[in-house]
Amino acid sequence: MPQQQQSPGLKCPQCGQFIPTTIAELLSAQALRCPYCGLELTINRAESRHAMEILKEVDEASKKLDQASQFKR
Ligand SMILES: [Zn+2]
Repeated sequence: MPQQQQSPGLKCPQCGQFIPTTIAELLSAQALRCPYCGLELTINRAESRHAMEILKEVDEASKKLDQASQFKR
């Protein structure tokens, strides 16, 4: 069955490719490197704190979803 996993990531400002990453990486890494063009993206957590909080909520929500799916009949 077609299942589109919504993978976290961001669009490279230089080449426009989607850079897949993990929420944990976004929360902990200092920088991400675009695998397509090699551009290094610095993560400014002070400025993107709001976005990080949203990511945390998404992460927690998906964990809850994982738990819920274990109770399938
Ligand atoms: Zn790129």
